Amino acid sequence: MKKYDYIVIGGGSGGIASANRAAMRGANVLLIEGKELGGTCVNVGCVPKKVMWQASDLFESLHRDASGYGITASSPVLNFKQLVDNREQYIEFLHGAYARGLEGNGVDVIKGYAQFVDNETIVVDNSKYQAPHILIATGGRPKSLEIPGGQYARDSDDFFALTELPKKPIVIGGGYIAAEIAGVMQGLGAQVSWAFRYHRPLRCFEEMLSYHLMALYQQDGIKLYESHVPEKIEKSGDNYLVHFANGTTLTGDYVLFAGGRAPNVDNLGLEKTTIALCENGFIPVDQYQNTNTKGIYAVGDVIGKIDLTPVAIAAGRRLAERLFNNQADAHLDYNLVPTVVFTHPPMATIGLSEKEAQEKYGEKQIKVYQSEFTPMYFALDSYRQKAKMMLVCAGEEEKIVGLHGIGRGVDEMLQGFAVAIKMGATKKDFDETVAIHPTGSEEFVTMR
Ligand code: FAD
Ligand code: NDP
Repeated sequence: MKKYDYIVIGGGSGGIASANRAAMRGANVLLIEGKELGGTCVNVGCVPKKVMWQASDLFESLHRDASGYGITASSPVLNFKQLVDNREQYIEFLHGAYARGLEGNGVDVIKGYAQFVDNETIVVDNSKYQAPHILIATGGRPKSLEIPGGQYARDSDDFFALTELPKKPIVIGGGYIAAEIAGVMQGLGAQVSWAFRYHRPLRCFEEMLSYHLMALYQQDGIKLYESHVPEKIEKSGDNYLVHFANGTTLTGDYVLFAGGRAPNVDNLGLEKTTIALCENGFIPVDQYQNTNTKGIYAVGDVIGKIDLTPVAIAAGRRLAERLFNNQADAHLDYNLVPTVVFTHPPMATIGLSEKEAQEKYGEKQIKVYQSEFTPMYFALDSYRQKAKMMLVCAGEEEKIVGLHGIGRGVDEMLQGFAVAIKMGATKKDFDETVAIHPTGSEEFVTMR
């Protein structure tokens, strides 16, 4: 039985970050990964998604916007297979980079699936390992569509395995992944139908963002089906028929379901430990990432709190600082986490929506500032893609409690504003900041 100070199960965003940080602080660390280093983010999440988003953005720019600038790019051609091959080569490079990083920090890495034997012991392929501190960072996987014919629906992992772009895909779901992949496929030349069961997609976001996204996606030719609950899928030759509860049927050559994610806890041997699970299978933790069992911690998607890579990384690193660097109070503040949805154009958000702010502070305490404009990028073109931005301010001092934007470039604008908001910025602070011209971000400091 080999003994370590720290065993990390799962070599994704949270696990790698925590293992590296613990080793940097002198701990003897073992990391166990069942598939590829990098986890969801690197292999079937953020990284391949962002590559596809960029490709789609570039392709749109070439055939839609270039002519306005006097550039002839008359018939750009997409080699989808080449794009996928190049993307996978980049991911292969990242695997190597992660392996080298772990090795450099002295983390032992083994490939295999870990199972608990008891609260302090892990088994991988018949070998046992023990540690006083064990981190569960096993992430999640796509949920499947539990309706008749649901097996015909592909998930986001399958999407990244495609070597040919579907011509008439149907996207089901109203969350991040559906919104992003619908935009990617349309931008690359597919005719996308997007069905979601609420009356607007991204229902947890500020309404303005959802409604403007709907308008822009329609402008780009995506067919939207709001309030559509899928009931049955049938195969008909090379096509699929998706039947909805309201009687509509959509026909397409590919069906993608992005309906949230389930935690990877099933084959972990948790029944041999004293770890408690929530009803939906996620592992509950306190603010220090402690599970109910001493010496066992969880971070990332497996806790079902905020499923974002930087959140998993930040929680994993802080945990390592607490356990191995005497930082007794190190923990992640899950409030005011900025996030971007890589739609076309992207949307960026931090803090409360207008409605949430009204509920929290009272309607009279909230003042909202808004801006709508056409980014200068579109000035020479007949295609106009409007951007919208919003500040939600609370109280007499107009503290900014929510900042939302949708439009070209907002993905790269948010991070800096997030620092200001995290520091407690007010509308006056924004007003006193001189604008940068001509940019889209100047709208955030010039709203009246
Ligand atoms: P993961 O990264 O999922 O890693 C868990 C690892 O544990 C996996 O490698 C798995 O193989 C391994 N594992 C599971 N069980 C075992 C076991 N028993 N033994 C050994 N290993 C095991 N987030 C963003 O911030 N920005 C984005 O743009 C973004 N885009 C996304 C796009 C898509 C399509 C998806 C699906 C997700 C996206 N996310 C994005 C979310 C992000 O990928 C996750 O929040 C993040 O990867 C979670 O990290 P994690 O460490 O919790 O889990
Ligand atoms: P989300 O939780 O974002 O959205 C799930 C969607 O699926 C909801 O719109 C939900 O509808 C819908 N849904 C669930 N069940 C059904 C059903 N049976 N029929 C129809 N619709 C259904 O999950 P995703 O899978 O999109 O993404 C998972 C997480 O990954 C995200 O929450 C995010 O944290 C992370 N992610 C982050 C990205 C980023 O940072 N850019 C990109 C991609 C993912 P309803 O709204 O009606 O409940």
